[in-house]
Amino acid sequence: MLTNKCALVTGATSGIGLAIAEALARSGASLMINGLGDHAANHALVRGIANRHGVKVLLNEADLRDPLQIAAMITEARASLGSLDILVNNAGIQYVAPIEDFPIDKWNDILALNLSAAFHTIRLAVPGMKERGWGRIVNIGSAHALIASPFKSAYVAAKHGIAGLTKTVALELAQHGVTANTVCPGYVLTPLVEKQIPDTMQARNLSREAVVRDVLLAAQPTKRFVTVEEVADTVVFLCSDAARSITGTSISVDGGWTAQ
Ligand code: NAD
Repeated sequence: MLTNKCALVTGATSGIGLAIAEALARSGASLMINGLGDHAANHALVRGIANRHGVKVLLNEADLRDPLQIAAMITEARASLGSLDILVNNAGIQYVAPIEDFPIDKWNDILALNLSAAFHTIRLAVPGMKERGWGRIVNIGSAHALIASPFKSAYVAAKHGIAGLTKTVALELAQHGVTANTVCPGYVLTPLVEKQIPDTMQARNLSREAVVRDVLLAAQPTKRFVTVEEVADTVVFLCSDAARSITGTSISVDGGWTAQ
């Protein structure tokens, strides 16, 4: 379905991004996978996807808090893949603390990675998409792009921001064959969620079981975590020609959380 398309997925060495990379490769797209983590393990991931699906897969380990590294990554993607047709801004981090204790460096990092990085990748990818008259931009938001929870000021601010950025980009590109959408998952059990369990236990003085039951899944009516594959399949659909009229919207994959 996506044969002859070239994609960049940020934050794809783990969790949701890795599942998106796998699903795009299964659909025939060539890929650049960006992410941090252990270099040898990242190479093994890339080789695994390339071997399973017979597509070209490249690794890029740029730290996306840095606009210069983002620019180098986009240049490399274009040069090595030939074009950049699909851009999935997925890299994200979380930090949980009351507003009055929220560390300034965590605020800056979350805004840089979860919001500003998408501004930079989009502004650099758009000229090529416009030139070819085809493009798909999918930003991974969150239920927290639509509603708030306490103790997540930076994350909620960044995710609301990315929903706004997506709408603006969609309007600017509506007549160029390029769509831009935000996918808003509920809770998915990835390392990002694992990591916030201890902080939430501390912030709310709760046990691990109580955090999962009474905080994480409390508002998710299905009472189960969303799977990475469910998010990835939504992204692949948005990249298809069947979704060409879907632009500027936020699509919830949240087990009914934001329907309440
Ligand atoms: P994860 O921790 O499993 O993966 C995060 C990815 O981002 C990794 O590949 C990591 O290497 C990369 N990354 C981290 N810092 C980076 C940096 N400075 N530069 C480049 N890459 C960096 O997280 P996940 O749960 O898969 O989250 C992926 C996205 O989905 C995030 O944007 C997150 O906000 C969003 N999301 C997650 C959930 C959830 O419940 N897990 C829910 C809603 C939205």
